[in-house]
Amino acid sequence: MLDRLAELETAVSYITLAPDGEPSFTYQPGDLPILISAPHATAHQRRQRLKGEEEFTGALAQFLAETTGIHALFSHYRSLGDPNWDRDSPYKQRLREIVQDNNIRFVLDLHGMSNKYKIGLALGTMNGRSCPDHESLILQTVEKQLQPTSQTAAKKFSTLRWDHFVLNHSRFTGGLANYTITRFASQQLGVPAVQIELCSSARVVERRPLDKWPVPFRGQPEAIQQTMDLLQALVNAVLATT
Ligand SMILES: [Zn+2]
Repeated sequence: MLDRLAELETAVSYITLAPDGEPSFTYQPGDLPILISAPHATAHQRRQRLKGEEEFTGALAQFLAETTGIHALFSHYRSLGDPNWDRDSPYKQRLREIVQDNNIRFVLDLHGMSNKYKIGLALGTMNGRSCPDHESLILQTVEKQLQPTSQTAAKKFSTLRWDHFVLNHSRFTGGLANYTITRFASQQLGVPAVQIELCSSARVVERRPLDKWPVPFRGQPEAIQQTMDLLQALVNAVLATT
């Protein structure tokens, strides 16, 4: 799985703009009525400021789609705007078409956050509003998948634990006050949605070396495996309700 993720990620162009006439995102059709979205897989611009790619969210979305048969939409080239933040964006328009054409019943919106928050996984449901009928099912699934190895260790958040998760952390609510994909799907399209934020350790197979950081960063292989198991379990849990 790690090799395949690395291969899929190589095809994502973080900084290059799309060739003329092509969109900055790619849609990979599926057979099942669920969509995984990764709007920040490449660099993007929010209020004139260039924001970095959330590495491996594009690869994880593609891999999840490949292994489960769901639909995937992910940024593929650098975006001139912010597909998640902008009120309207070509990405959101495409998402609307995919949802309508395929009778999509649930949207998983995948993001990456820094390890600095010491949280492995943050789920944003707009305090329950983006998926009222699914929130408890999602929580049960996450709890089952991420059983902490030791209860005492789980309570100590001084170090990053990728099996530690939070729901509606003040930074990652899924969009109470801004125009996120989660909010767009649930409020404008009427499709329940959840925002999933993964720390670097639980998604980055290997970061391309950077000038400021010549030794490549590597996530934890077990954590990445656990991420994939969790995403697949979420797809199965949601499918069972559709
Ligand atoms: Zn993001």
